[in-house]
Amino acid sequence: MAAPYVRRSLATTLAITLLLVSCTSEPDRVASDSRSSTAQPGSEPDPAETRQHFRPPTANLALFEPEAGDRYFVGTVGRTWTSGTFGCVRSEGYQLHEGLDIRPLKRDGRGEALDPILAAADGIVAYVNPKAALSNYGIYVVLRHEIQGWKLFTLYAHLARVGDRITPGLKVRCGEPLGLMGRTANTRSGISKDRAHLHFEINLLVNDRFADWHRKHFPGQRDDHGIWNGRNMLGIDPLPLILQQHHDPSLLDLSGLIRQQPVLCRTLVRSTDFDWLHRYPATVEPRPPRDSAGIVAHEIHHNFVGIPIRIIPRTADEAGGRARFQLLEVNAETARAYPCQKLVRQRDGRWQFTAEGERFLDLLIF
Ligand SMILES: [Zn+2]
Repeated sequence: MAAPYVRRSLATTLAITLLLVSCTSEPDRVASDSRSSTAQPGSEPDPAETRQHFRPPTANLALFEPEAGDRYFVGTVGRTWTSGTFGCVRSEGYQLHEGLDIRPLKRDGRGEALDPILAAADGIVAYVNPKAALSNYGIYVVLRHEIQGWKLFTLYAHLARVGDRITPGLKVRCGEPLGLMGRTANTRSGISKDRAHLHFEINLLVNDRFADWHRKHFPGQRDDHGIWNGRNMLGIDPLPLILQQHHDPSLLDLSGLIRQQPVLCRTLVRSTDFDWLHRYPATVEPRPPRDSAGIVAHEIHHNFVGIPIRIIPRTADEAGGRARFQLLEVNAETARAYPCQKLVRQRDGRWQFTAEGERFLDLLIF
């Protein structure tokens, strides 16, 4: 019913936004110019490393202002804005929120959000879920990016609608409009008009073979989104990443941000080859070639959401036990600091995997 109105507003707001916000067009030109010039390799810093990779995914820039959390984040019902940030911020700390809930700047006469949703970095459209009823993300878009050697996936959820051009395979530029902010979701309670927001995630992908894994473990159950299922994506906090960029684009250090996170636990998986090793080689410790033939397992250091932040190939001498996966150690301090972690639990004074932890490792090495 309201579609024509929304469409007209979208076009107008998009045009204005495009004039006001751009992140990579200028530096990109510099980058390609210098590559085609006669400059000696190595004589200058790589321009690609000094340009801005990430920008906020809407025109709301209050995250760059001090003390403006309440103008940037939308909290859950009856809670402060901090419940709209990333981490153990829900249900007294026991529930993870894997993204940022970003407040709208514009509303139409009926109070519906009108903010265009913008690509947070150069990338390729990986997935569009156009049916709100199929996900608690509602209508959502996933973009694929390759930044500093990391394959990252940004996710934009609860949209009112997605731009007609936004279909899988399309190349998008940082700041390019993807759709319109909304409040779609398939949850029973829904999202009220005053809580309309963009749910924004930056993810690593667990396993390309997710669909096969899902078929094996949940036979007969629907898998509407293939590898773009929330279970197959592990979130990192977008905030430090966007802030690092804003202050000085050359400061962005994805490897540092990911690898320096606190370790929740160390596990040993009896597998020599799995998808993650190929997608995220920066997490794998190199071994001398003389060892590589003898590798029978991998030791994995996980952060609180399960991300393997460090992987050490292990030889038969180093890897004890024959189990498909073992829990080697839990950092109790990290477990206390992140009560929403779901991988391990303490029982009668001993740490063990939860059922969810076992399922996660099974998917990781499937
Ligand atoms: Zn959210």
